[in-house]
Amino acid sequence: MRQKKHFIAERALLIRRSKIRELFERASKIEGVISLGIGEPDFDTPRNIKEAAKRALDEGWTHYTPNAGIQELREAIVEYYSNFYNVDIEVDNVIITAGAYEGTYLAFETLLERGDEVIIPDPAFVSYAEDAKLAEANIVRLPLREENEFMPDPDEIVELITKRTRMIVINYPNNPTGAVLEKDVAKAIADIAKDYNIYILSDEPYEHFLYDDAKHYPMIKFAPENTILANSFSKTFAMTGWRLGFVVAPSEIIKAMIKLHAYVIGNVASFVQVAGVEALRSQESWKAVENMRKEYNERRKIVVKRLQKMPGISVREPKGAFYVFPNIKEIGMSSERFSEWLLENARVVVIPGTAFGERGEGYVRISYATSKEKLVEAMDRIEEALNKL
Ligand code: PLP
Repeated sequence: MRQKKHFIAERALLIRRSKIRELFERASKIEGVISLGIGEPDFDTPRNIKEAAKRALDEGWTHYTPNAGIQELREAIVEYYSNFYNVDIEVDNVIITAGAYEGTYLAFETLLERGDEVIIPDPAFVSYAEDAKLAEANIVRLPLREENEFMPDPDEIVELITKRTRMIVINYPNNPTGAVLEKDVAKAIADIAKDYNIYILSDEPYEHFLYDDAKHYPMIKFAPENTILANSFSKTFAMTGWRLGFVVAPSEIIKAMIKLHAYVIGNVASFVQVAGVEALRSQESWKAVENMRKEYNERRKIVVKRLQKMPGISVREPKGAFYVFPNIKEIGMSSERFSEWLLENARVVVIPGTAFGERGEGYVRISYATSKEKLVEAMDRIEEALNKL
């Protein structure tokens, strides 16, 4: 085919490809690499959820559904917030989305005008900044510090607020740090949002992966009129490939989201939504979630204990999600250089902290969503490489 130069709109050219993907492509060319870079569960979707999807297909769930999602799934989500968190919402506060990715995208597109300011933590999950660019919003970075357990400082949030501030993004349990938000900090952020009339986009897909005495408080508990809560079945039920998530927000915002969603996604696959009802309402799936949580917890302990003994590395024990974010500053290499060095010298993939923002410099993200055997082998290799430095 002749090579024609195509015109691509600036909007699409603005989007930065994730550094994480680049590293994976390089790693795939090296033999015997262990990847601790992945951000998805290594578990299979619980059996009862898969069976429900198969049954739904056989029963003819092969057509369009209402744009906002099937009534039963929206009701199951209402029940879920009531049962788990004692929070009352209604069906018109819920839209079913293609994962939390779509949920956060809808929040940016629905709420932000060109030039509005959005406060995004640094480090933070990669998609928020790209969402902001697409919405032509201005990004204001909120530093997260290790000495604050990677929680935001409410006073610092207030200092960053201007007349143009429209939204603040938070994500706990956190990717990439594994941090969990303490109740008083969550409440302080809620109060700020109410006082200054700004929205909180709270991205909560890791809410069930909590360890030791950690607790999660959905933001809608403290600031229901100001919160857009993005959530997902991806991590909780090991369903990343199904593309099933949802947003909880004030009904006027949900209505606006439905209009956009109707022309981008139409609706999430009908049989997938039926399986989502099974996931939320069956004891079998919740047992599977608890088993996954226990397994993650054991892996977390192994990784933290091993890292704590390694020269040049210091690590705090993260209380949530499935990530560890060790400090590598003493080693004297940049995060990116260190990740490359580990790939070459230990054949282990970790993600440089800078993939999540400038403040990630001096850290790397290690995912323990991989088997214990592989984790132990990876820890052996990292230790051996570091001992030779
Ligand atoms: N938000 C966070 C913090 C994530 O870590 C991820 C996936 O890694 C997503 C959103 C997207 O998840 P989903 O599969 O629900 O679109």
